[in-house]
Amino acid sequence: MEKKNIFVLIQELETQMGHIHSELGGLKLVIKELLEENHHLSLENEQLRKILKKEVHPADVENPVALQPQLHVKDEEHEDVVGEGYDNLARLYHEGFHICNVYYGHLRTEGDCLFCLSFLNK
Ligand SMILES: [Zn+2]
Repeated sequence: MEKKNIFVLIQELETQMGHIHSELGGLKLVIKELLEENHHLSLENEQLRKILKKEVHPADVENPVALQPQLHVKDEEHEDVVGEGYDNLARLYHEGFHICNVYYGHLRTEGDCLFCLSFLNK
């Protein structure tokens, strides 16, 4: 191998290591965001479960299927619970969660949400 080629090779390796280094930095950021999101979702899940437990008949709590009509009000099979579903959604909103299809289930962190309010006023 000629000396010139060795330097070209080292140059290429250096460039590649630079790329790998910045990719690692990017991955670190992604992991940080995922951990934060995970934490946020865990808290949210916990709060939603508390609310559901309060609203669902105690006997139904052990049966996860029974929890679904509360969340999927639009399912055709559950049209009979729409009225009740509306009350639950209104309560969810007042407990601080979005019920609009834009941010559904997320915590409301900036006061009232116009999407949610227009949904409630329908
Ligand atoms: Zn909203």
